[in-house]
Parts: sequence; C-alpha cells; structure tokens
Amino acid sequence: MTAASAPVRTRFAPSPTGFIHLGNIRSALYPWAFARAKGGVFVLRIEDTDTERSSQEAVDVILEGMRWLGLDPDEGPFFQMQRMDRYREVVAQMLYQGLAYRCYMSQAELDALRERQMAAKQKPRYDGTWRPEPGKTLPPIPEGVRPVIRFKSPIGGSVSWDDKVKGRVEFSNEELDDLVIARPAGEDQPLNAIGTPTYNFCVVVDDIEMRITHVIRGDDHVNNTPRQIHILRALGHEPPVYAHLPTVLNEHGEKMSKRHGAKPVTAYRDEGFLPEAVVNYLARLGWSHGDDEIFTREQLIAWFDLDHLGKSAAQYDEAKLRWVASQHMKQADDARLAALVHVALQARGIAAPADERLATMCALFKDRCATTVELADWLAMFFVEPQPGEAELRQHVTDAIRSALHALADRLAQATWDAGSIQQAFKATLAEQGLKMPALALPVRLLVCGRAQTPSIDAVLALFPRETVLSRLRERR
Ligand code: GLU
Repeated sequence: MTAASAPVRTRFAPSPTGFIHLGNIRSALYPWAFARAKGGVFVLRIEDTDTERSSQEAVDVILEGMRWLGLDPDEGPFFQMQRMDRYREVVAQMLYQGLAYRCYMSQAELDALRERQMAAKQKPRYDGTWRPEPGKTLPPIPEGVRPVIRFKSPIGGSVSWDDKVKGRVEFSNEELDDLVIARPAGEDQPLNAIGTPTYNFCVVVDDIEMRITHVIRGDDHVNNTPRQIHILRALGHEPPVYAHLPTVLNEHGEKMSKRHGAKPVTAYRDEGFLPEAVVNYLARLGWSHGDDEIFTREQLIAWFDLDHLGKSAAQYDEAKLRWVASQHMKQADDARLAALVHVALQARGIAAPADERLATMCALFKDRCATTVELADWLAMFFVEPQPGEAELRQHVTDAIRSALHALADRLAQATWDAGSIQQAFKATLAEQGLKMPALALPVRLLVCGRAQTPSIDAVLALFPRETVLSRLRERR
C-alpha cells in the first residue's frame, strides 16, 4: 500500500520554541482539516528536542490554541524528548545493518576540511573519510574521541517527490552529504555510546512509527525532505505524500514571526475573535474553494483537499480577518454570544445577568462587531453609567432640546415598555415640539447610551429597564 492509498494519517509537529502564532498554527489546521475530510487520523507531536529553546509555556500555548480552535488531535501529544531511547534504538539498528557509521573526525579537522573546500570554490560537505565501503581501509580510530553517527546517504543520482504544492521537486544526491544522525555521547557515557539523535532523524522515525501518510508543513522544511526521504527508504519505507506550504507574511511583507510582532494564537481568543472565524480566515490563507470566502467548519471539512493549496506566500491582513470575523458574528447563535459576552463583561468587573435579555442585546448589536469583546464594549452601557464626552454633550444636549427631552421622558414614563410604544412616544414628542428625529434621537443616544450612534433607538431603549432610561434622560437636565 502506498502512502497515497493508505488510510490518511496526518500530523502537526510544532517545536515549542516560541509562542505559536497564526502563521504557524495554519500548519496544524491543514493536516487537521485533511484528516477530517478523509475520515483519517490527526496526530500531534511536540518536537521539543531543542531543550535550550523549548519551554512549557510554549507547549501550553500550542495546546490551548489548538483546543480553542477545535483542532483536536486524535493521537498525542507525543513528546520527542520522551522517545529518545527509541531513536537511539533505531540508530543502533542502522549501525548494525551498515546503514550508518561512526565518524571520528574532530571539529578542528572538519573546520580544516571546510576551509580547503571553500578555497577550492567547492560546496562544503563531509568528505566520507569514515564512510565504510567494500575494500576500503578506514583510518585508525583516534584515542579519546567521541564519534558522531552519520547516515550513509546514497551516492550519485537524485531524489525527488511530487509535492502537493510545489509540484515535482528534485535534489541531486551530490548536494546531500552523510548527515549526522546522532551527536557524540555525553561525558558520563562510554566513548562509543550513541549520543543525542538529531532533528531530521527523529522526524523520520516518528513519521514512520506514527504511520504518517501526508506530511503537510511549512516550506522552510523543503531542504530537509530529500534527507528524510533517504533515511525513510533506508529503513524500508516509502515516503509519505508531501505538501510544503508557502510562508505566511505579515502586513509588512516579512515572514510572520514573533520577532516581527506576531501575536500568540491565544491573543486572538483574548481579543474576542470567534474560533470558527479564525479557522475560516486561516483556511483561506493558502487554500481556496472557488470564490467562497465565508464558510463553517463543517463546510471546510467537507471541502478541504490538497489540490487547491496556494503556491505563493500568503499575506496576513488584519482588516480581512476582522471582516471574516464580523460575518461569523452575524451568524453566531445569540445565546452563545451572550455567554461569551458575559465572561468578557465579568473580566472588566461588570456583573451582567446571563439571561435572555443579554442574548436579545447580542442579537441587536452583533452586526456591528468583529469580536465578542467589541460586543461587550457596546453592551456595557446597559450595566454601567456611560460617560459621554463633555464637548459632545454641550453640542447636542442644548437648552433648546431640554424641554423636548423632558416631554419625551414624561411620555416614556407612561408608555408600555416595548419598541413600538417607545417609537410612538418619540413621534408624539417630535410632532409636539416641531422637531425632526435626529435632533431628538442624538441627545437621547448620548445621554442614555453614551454614544452618538446606535442601532434603532427605540429597539435599544426597550432593552434598558425603564427607570434607567428615565434617570439618564433626566439626570443632566
Ligand atoms: N518542528 C518543525 C517546526 O516546528 C516541523 C517539522 C515538520 O513538520 O516536519 O518547524
């Protein structure tokens, strides 16, 4: 069975060396969506072998971000640091089978070799001094040197694959020297012990043992792929299908990175974006389904494939994200929004009852918001006294309008408390005072809502307790 015909198994293999941002987590979304689209399995593997730079906080952001976006793995998280013994076992097996060998070249010798090659205008590469070949006599093993272990890479010919994004990619084997698959053992180990297995090697062992059929990852790994394919084949396996995703650029056209100001994924949650909106936005950042811009998770799963991945770098665009997010806000269930807004209000010390009224408020205001935090900004007016600007008040709550406000308040005090009756109260007051709607509605908005613009004022007022409206209208007169 080839990788392409086996049941689909994909993986996300982040290195927890910085806070995961949107550009990185797209490399989780696509394998997740592909596995879901094909009824396959999605594996999470944390590549934490760079112990200096890996951190638990970074792992937590990965796990939290994935949970928030609903990218649940079916297997894992597996941690590479917990699999070291298994990698060493495979190195030992490769030594035994003659697929790898010990190299005793010291750093000084390697440096000298490199200098000679550079001087001769050659590409620096390991020269095979310790590579065993039939009939070849190896140099005497130097005393006290801890060897590295190198993979016996094929000589001559080339290696290629049909990348789902890049098409056919080919590397000449000339370019690939014998990769170090294990670094020297530590001082507390016997000289010849197998030290720390290296990055590319661990990836291969894991991809084999986790039975990965489709490797979907960033194209910064393209140069690793030919080496990984050689090791896979040496171990008796056919390579998986590869899809190398183009980089995500930030708004300035630089590679998206924490250093260039990218936010951790969890920041979008804290800013109140709906997860399905972020999933939708990210899905479109390098993949398309016709002209569809707005889609649900279910549609994404139904549609996702590897045949419509974009070939050029995608650029992050916050304005577009906000637009997508506002479309999802419109579609979101009001009770669900109410629960989210309730939490957002609580975070600012505003105790709003999580009841049906809150859901009705969400329904009225959600069209104007990209996030639940923005929705909470709006809804705060129902629970705390708004603070309209003094200048605006002076401009719109003029002496001329005060008697109209007074008359309106008196009518509202008598009205049935619903939007229709509130509208009648406005109409009667306008007719009586010879005013046009904006002249009255604007000061009412300022006094009651603290803003000059709101949805239809009668619908908004109906959501307040009558007493709140009356006291805000009367307070400043
Ligand atoms: N750990 C690598 C990274 O975070 C990904 C390796 C892979 O997907 O093969 O860039």
